[in-house]
Amino acid sequence: MKTKNKAAKFFSVLILLLIGFILYWSFTKPVSVIIQAGHEGRTTGNTGAESKHYREEEWNIIVADEVARLLKLWHIDVKRIPARVYPMKATIAVSIHFDGATKPCRSGASIGYPNQNSYAFAQKWKSLYKTYFPFKWHKDNFTKNLKYYYAYNYIKADKFLLLELGELSCKKQTNWLQPRLKKIAHLVAYSIATELGHSVKKPQF
Ligand SMILES: [Zn+2]
Repeated sequence: MKTKNKAAKFFSVLILLLIGFILYWSFTKPVSVIIQAGHEGRTTGNTGAESKHYREEEWNIIVADEVARLLKLWHIDVKRIPARVYPMKATIAVSIHFDGATKPCRSGASIGYPNQNSYAFAQKWKSLYKTYFPFKWHKDNFTKNLKYYYAYNYIKADKFLLLELGELSCKKQTNWLQPRLKKIAHLVAYSIATELGHSVKKPQF
């Protein structure tokens, strides 16, 4: 009787471990691309930039959704995630953000990344977006939030870019950005697909 109980215990533990492993595997399974909408789902802490008319989170979601939709359309496997992260693996991870400034129009576009592995990809993005975005650019990793972004520690990606796509507290910039959000998303998706070796059509502005 005792041995039977032991065997039953052993197998139920084994089954639980197996279920745990399958769940863990499905959550952490490597994907080609991870797209994060910055601040999405946050109600406390860093909830993102805000201006009179716009909230960063909303714009991040519009852009991130469109990037993910296009990548799927081009048959690239993509995981679209909110602010909350857990250990994940990807070839490319991109986090979408818009900046805010206490003195309006002092900011603009910038890029953050965790290390030099992402440097070349970052420069490609900059030279592409620079041909469209007619406002200020900061140096890469110009704030701690860019250089030490929390998600770098959870998402293991060969290349990880945090994109600040413009300044939400500057009316001149929002006037330019707002009608172009989907075009900008197309540009982001295009540069990711190209980086992965896919040939897709360059968007026209
Ligand atoms: Zn942000």
